[in-house]
Amino acid sequence: MKPILEIGNVTYSYHTLQGETTALNDINLSVMPGQFISIVGPSGCGKSTLLSLISGLIKPDSGSIKINEKKIEDSNTNIGYMLQKDNLFEWRTVYSNVLLGLEIQNKITKSTTETINEMLKAYGLENFKDARPSQLSGGMRQRVALIRTLALEPDILLLDEPFSALDYQTRLEVCDDIGAILRRESKTAILVTHDLSEAISMGDIVVVLSKRPGKIRKIVEIDMEIPNRTPISSRSSPKFKDYFNLIWKELTDNV
Ligand code: ADP
Repeated sequence: MKPILEIGNVTYSYHTLQGETTALNDINLSVMPGQFISIVGPSGCGKSTLLSLISGLIKPDSGSIKINEKKIEDSNTNIGYMLQKDNLFEWRTVYSNVLLGLEIQNKITKSTTETINEMLKAYGLENFKDARPSQLSGGMRQRVALIRTLALEPDILLLDEPFSALDYQTRLEVCDDIGAILRRESKTAILVTHDLSEAISMGDIVVVLSKRPGKIRKIVEIDMEIPNRTPISSRSSPKFKDYFNLIWKELTDNV
């Protein structure tokens, strides 16, 4: 199997009137199809910048980013982006919020609406199609945002702190929920989070970045030795604590 994403020697700096800020320095990372990658590191170390580079919103100063062996601009790979804010529109119903991406891309067909209906059913939102976003819980809103993103059939899903606006219990539930959905759909996902437990419980691989300029400090493969693991079952695995301590040490040694 070939990597779906290859980041080679990528460096990126922001240029402002105040001067130059090197956000990322010599980043190398390969991601295989279906893998779930979590990225952790101190605040301001360049995690969101890395997602912006992968999405093609910004271009590296040096190095290369390839998706399915092609440069981002030549690749027809679909990339989905999910942010901390769900960005649902209150003036639209749940259903028309979910359809928004397809509407913009002129892709509303019998088959895409069928897929949406199936997802709404599978993810417990069938009876809320006509509701407004404000009538939903935070967790339900995030599920709506996820379905809207998945409707466009992204090959790679970028998740930038998507759970951090939720309260602790909802956050655990939504993590589990969304982790299960992404595994069921075999999506390649890259999650940026400042929550180490979340990173370990969701990821197949945890990438630890150093403080700015962000460099890769460590890449840790997570194997909880439990079949069909979910984020919640991972948290009760005896190995969870070992991974937590190992990565915590990497993070704190660096501060
Ligand atoms: P993280 O997501 O890890 O918190 P970011 O990728 O947002 O970090 O930012 C990395 C560094 O780049 C930070 O020091 C930040 O101040 C700087 N930075 C981010 N965006 C901009 C910008 N638009 N202009 C100038 N500097 C920026």
